[in-house]
Amino acid sequence: MTSLYDASREDIAGLLSGQPAFRLKQVWEGLYTQFAEPSQILTLPGTVREELAHGFPNSLNLTTASVSDKGDTIKFLWSLADGGHPIETVLMHYKERATVCVSTQAGCAMACGFCATGQAGFTRHLSVGEIVEQVVYAARESAKRKQRLANVVFMGMGEPLANEEAVWGAVERIHGDIGLSARHLTISTVGIVPGIRKLASRPLPVNLAVSLHAARDVLRDELVPINKRYPINELMQACRDYLDNKNRRISFEWAMIDGINDQPRDARELAQLCGQLTPSAHVNLIPLNPTPGWPTKGTSAAGVRAFAQQLEDLGVNVTVRRNRGTDIDAACGQLAAGQPVRLTNRRGIEE
Ligand code: SAH
Repeated sequence: MTSLYDASREDIAGLLSGQPAFRLKQVWEGLYTQFAEPSQILTLPGTVREELAHGFPNSLNLTTASVSDKGDTIKFLWSLADGGHPIETVLMHYKERATVCVSTQAGCAMACGFCATGQAGFTRHLSVGEIVEQVVYAARESAKRKQRLANVVFMGMGEPLANEEAVWGAVERIHGDIGLSARHLTISTVGIVPGIRKLASRPLPVNLAVSLHAARDVLRDELVPINKRYPINELMQACRDYLDNKNRRISFEWAMIDGINDQPRDARELAQLCGQLTPSAHVNLIPLNPTPGWPTKGTSAAGVRAFAQQLEDLGVNVTVRRNRGTDIDAACGQLAAGQPVRLTNRRGIEE
């Protein structure tokens, strides 16, 4: 066990032997309702707090917290307790809600060339507790601002469906103990077909986002190498089966790359795939964010708008995503922990 948040109720009860039964409830509420650090669960006697802290030392140690968007976006850089591998979490505050983007692996093995995490390679899977702890920390931080953490997106470092067991364990904890409903949880995948099928067999209807980026195999093979293993046809079949099971809309993520996947032909091909799903898929467009290892530029704001318009004309629901945290390298695809913060201050596109 690597984290206090990996511990089951039984594990905690074992540590509390000799204490009255209600202590377990106090610990659980302290951790998952109040988002308190164990040493700050004030309903507990000091000796119990010490035992908890001793029994479960921190599994994530905060290295830095960087802030952008006038304080609304915070990137936490952590080092894992075993060996200090870096991982990142991004917390975004909006008017009425906050969303946290959590990492599911240290590094990533999927090797998408345009993604900074992919460029860095894979280190290890995160445990359930290491994923949940990122959410708890974010909820604590939001509470300090009198905001409520409302959404969790599994879109940080790593490929969630390559670590499906732990991701599902985290979903259950976030749903059952923290109390967020499945509609507020989104798992983003590069398109690992067996993982999508596994997810379809799980009891909760979490949102599924598929990082498509190309709607023809020759191009997708290049941009998202796992496409060679799970080509678009198979991926679409898995998406259809997920929909049949869950009755939720699937979204397609599309990082717009200048001159590569932003042409009228791409819009037509993408619209065709969206139409293969019922309900039709929702498309999220985001201009490609710059990363050190990929020379191509993101599509211009005007190019993104034009592409969005073409999709709309073809009957596709589309949202242009705002780029949060570009200046602190916290935007999509920029998570490659350990790099110095670059103050480029690029402006994104408003949603
Ligand atoms: N591995 C998962 C989740 C992590 S990536 C997945 O692939 O979905 C989260 C999203 O950011 C994915 O849609 C990914 O393709 C996108 N992304 C990666 N690098 C990017 C970049 N440089 N600019 C914009 N989006 C990027």
